[in-house]
Formats: sequence, C-alpha cells, structure tokens
Amino acid sequence: MEEFEKIWSQIKSRLQISLDTDVYNEHFAHISNVFKVVNNYVYLIAPNSFVKNKIESFYLNRLNALLNEYVQEKHMFKIITKDQAAEELAKREGPYAINVPEKDLEEKYKTGLNNSYTFENFVVGSSNRLAYTSAMKVADQPGGFANPLYIFGEVGLGKTHLMQCVGNYILENDVNKKVLYVKTDQFIEDFGKAAQKKSYDDFSKKYEDIDVLLVDDIQFLSGKNQTQLEFFKIFEKHEENNKQIVITSDRKASELFDIMSRLTSRFEWGLSVDINRPNLEHRILILKKKLHAETQDPDLISDEILEYIASVFDNNVRELEGALKRVLFYCTAFDYKFSVENAQEALKSLLNSKNAGNHKVDTINYMNILDIVSNYYNISTSDLLSKNRQKKYVFPRQIGMYILKDIYDLTYKKIGQIFNNRDHSTVIYSIEQISNDLQIDKTKKNDVDKLLIKCGKK
Ligand code: ADP
Ligand code: MG
Repeated sequence: MEEFEKIWSQIKSRLQISLDTDVYNEHFAHISNVFKVVNNYVYLIAPNSFVKNKIESFYLNRLNALLNEYVQEKHMFKIITKDQAAEELAKREGPYAINVPEKDLEEKYKTGLNNSYTFENFVVGSSNRLAYTSAMKVADQPGGFANPLYIFGEVGLGKTHLMQCVGNYILENDVNKKVLYVKTDQFIEDFGKAAQKKSYDDFSKKYEDIDVLLVDDIQFLSGKNQTQLEFFKIFEKHEENNKQIVITSDRKASELFDIMSRLTSRFEWGLSVDINRPNLEHRILILKKKLHAETQDPDLISDEILEYIASVFDNNVRELEGALKRVLFYCTAFDYKFSVENAQEALKSLLNSKNAGNHKVDTINYMNILDIVSNYYNISTSDLLSKNRQKKYVFPRQIGMYILKDIYDLTYKKIGQIFNNRDHSTVIYSIEQISNDLQIDKTKKNDVDKLLIKCGKK
C-alpha cells in the first residue's frame, strides 16, 4: 500500500508537469491517497462521478501506462467516487473483513441484463450481419449451435447490445433459465473479494449455478493470472455441460494480450464473429430506429438531417446515438425548427472536440451545464429534466435552473421550456428558493460555487 502511495504521488508530479494546469487541477489535484489495492487494481477516489467519468474516458490509459513503469506485475487504476468509497467503508466490519449484507447476496442472483437490448431494436447491415445471425442461432439453441460464441470489434459498435439480446431472448422463451450477464471487471472484483475472504461459496454459486454465462469485455482479464485460472475452470465446467457461453472482446482471441493460451485457444474452438463499422446507409437506418424509440412522430426529423448526422458521426454507434439525442433535445427544448443548420448548432461542441482531436469543449453551452450538474449530483440528465418529485432530483433541478439563470440570464420561460415545459412561475420559485438557501447554507453555497466554476463561470 505504502509503495503505491509513493508511486501515485510520483505519477501526480509527472501529470502536473505534462498537463494544462486547469486540467490537472480539475482531475488530479484532489486525489490524494490510494484507497486500496486489490487484485492488481489500484483504487483512487475521485471527488464525484463527473471527474471519475472524465478520467476514465480520457486519461486512464495514460495513467495505467505510467503506473506500469513502476511495478513489475501488471496493475491498473480503478477510479471510484467518494460515495462508493464511503459505502464500502460502511460495509467493512474490521480493518480487513468485508461484511456482505443480505441485499448483496440477493443481488448475486440477478441476471445483470438490461431488457431494452433486444434483437428487434438491433439494426442489421453488412457490418454486423454474421454476428447478428450467429447470436440469433445461439439464442435459439443455447449450448447447441456454437459454444462459446465470441463477438469482437471496436468500441461502441454493438457488442454489448448483441450479447444482451441473447440473454433476453433466452429468458423470454424460458423464464426458468438462469442467465448471468457480467462485465469482466465485475468478475475480477468478485473473485478478488472471494479470495480476500477465503470463502468461495457465494462466488461459485453465482458463476456455476447457471445455464447461460455472458461475459463482456474479456480483454480486461489481461495480466490477471489467478482470475484467468478461475475463469478457465468455470468455462470448462459450463462447456462440458453444454451450458452456453458468450464472450465479447475488443479484439480477436489470438490477439488478446497477456491472457493464457489455454484460455484463448478455447475461445477459438467455438465461433468467432466480428462487428465492423456501419456504412452510411446503415447508420441512417440506425438513426431512424433510434428516432422511433425516442419520439411518437418519426417524421419529426427529416431524412436530410439524419443524413447529415450520419455523415459526420461515422465510426461509433454510441456517438451517433448521442448526437441524435442532442439534436432532439436542443430543438425541442428551445422550440427551434428541425433543420440542418440547427442540428449543426446543436452538435457544434461535439464537432469541435472531434475535429480538434481532443475533447476539450471550448464553448460550454447549456446542455453541457445540465450534464455537469446531473453528474455532480450523480443522477441522469433526463432525471434532472424530468417531473419526478423525489427529493434527490428536486434539489439538483433547482440548482440547474439557478445556474442557467446565473450564467446565461435566460428568461424564466425559456428555462421552463428546457425543464420539460414547466411553468415560468415554478422556475421563479425554484431560483428564489436556491438564492435563499445559499445565504444561510454554507455547504450548498460551496457546491454551487464549485459548479459555477465547472460550468465555465469565474
Ligand atoms: P460495444 O459494447 O461494442 O462498445 P454497445 O453494445 O454498448 O457497444 O453499443 C453502443 C450503443 O450503440 C448502444 O446504445 C447500442 O444500443 C447502440 N447500437 C450499436 N449497434 C447497434 C445496432 N446495430 N442497432 C441499434 N443500436 C446499436
Ligand atoms: Mg460493450
């Protein structure tokens, strides 16, 4: 542990020299200690989920590369939020024992699936047809058609979606089937915990007492020898019993780095299928499907606009989807006409960062501000904008309104429109409420000051 504290402080010094001061201060200056080191993961605590997400998206590879200059065995950083750390501390009984509450035991038998990923809403084209048909067959005959099914491809192209379709489809046909979807990180963590407690019962039950195992992003097993061995055992057992296994990865099995060959060769025994980038027509079809899912009126956005979006976002379906949502949000919230010009305007900051080759957003606009506020309070932007009256949403929502007013001086009416067409009197009331709060509550004032800085004010 002490060793890692030292390493972290050296890495910090190097980051301080190589990064812009603002970037360094925002992301790294406040991360002082190493929280724990488990299973070759070095845990750092980010002050909130916004910083956590940014580090994960933009700096994690670099951090890991630096870290591995100092250690012999491969290690990786894992970023958690203050809240997650606090939760974990609360669960610990003594200095070493981790107490697993009942609730967690229940969690272990959950499928982990998101039921919105279905074959119906997966758009097929030449880049993913083979993967799609193979997944369909596997879902139709679990354990009978190809085992394991190994799906690989770059990020954001639909691997997770397709893998979850398999699980959802199987469950739909037979509710008694025990399906487990798990990210490789989770598997590593579960095994680490079991090893730490020297008690493997829960772990075995979770991973062995099932019919279908879906393991996402297997490349993260890289360098984890013990965990690989354990995975190998589970894998063998399921294969022997004709239990279906589906695996995804960012590369071919033969190109996996630092994963034992007896495992990678087993991956190749089954069926390997890749997903590639969709072409323009395919991207437009994906946008149409997503548009259908988002609105009642599929003609809301013309083909010309969809074509424009599809032509700009050409390498990743997740980005493509994000761009569409942004255009939808921008034009509805501000009552702008759906036109190519307005779509361009809505996507300006994304395009700037895309074209500039870095992710620094130069024009922080209101949508970013709403993202910043919701991230800060650990809720989703759609909850922030929704009419949900739960306390955990109401307060951040009022703060969001207050900050929009403060920075852009938008009219109350406009702010009301942005927040799901609320009446302007609600907005006035919310902003007044926050203004009063700030005069008497130092913590809230502190939070708002921090948020204002993050949002580009001051
Ligand atoms: P990956 O696991 O390959 O990184 P995901 O499965 O998470 O990618 O996909 C990213 C997003 O793109 C998801 O929201 C998913 O629904 C969507 N997506 C990807 N491919 C398709 C497709 N062919 N049809 C519909 N949606 C897709
Ligand atoms: Mg994925």
